[in-house]
Amino acid sequence: MAVIHSAEFAKEKQSLEGSIEAAALSRLADQLADQAGAVNWRLVGGVDRYQRPYLVLSLTGEFNLTCQRCLKPMAWQLEREAVLTQFADEESLDDAEGVDEDLEGMLIEPELDVDVLIEDEVLLSLPLAPRHAACGGDSEAALVAAKPNPFAVLAGLKTRKAE
Ligand SMILES: [Zn+2]
Repeated sequence: MAVIHSAEFAKEKQSLEGSIEAAALSRLADQLADQAGAVNWRLVGGVDRYQRPYLVLSLTGEFNLTCQRCLKPMAWQLEREAVLTQFADEESLDDAEGVDEDLEGMLIEPELDVDVLIEDEVLLSLPLAPRHAACGGDSEAALVAAKPNPFAVLAGLKTRKAE
């Protein structure tokens, strides 16, 4: 378990990386079909052109989710890169998010538990209602599943707007 000062880590342009077993992240493990897989992560600090400290968290991994249609496991690929801009107080965070709706803000945290941050970001990446593109699991179905479903993409956009 790593604990960092989020703003100092950013200003010193530090980086950390590692891997956490899914089984060690209880809130994530609850959402998975089984305990297989691990989150590979890399955290890099920096300061943006407005002199705001930020963290870039990159996550990859492969897990088994439960298909909400047939209730069988389905492989799911995690790939997320979050840029978390840090603010000293709630008010400046709200102002910045009001100006830039793509901005993902966080408050400066002197004792940031990196594992908790990673688990939070993985949970945000999980699909709301995972489904096989075609349930059944033969090779033809697997091929269909590999193509992105335009309706799923659309649903993702709508979800983002609602946030
Ligand atoms: Zn299914």
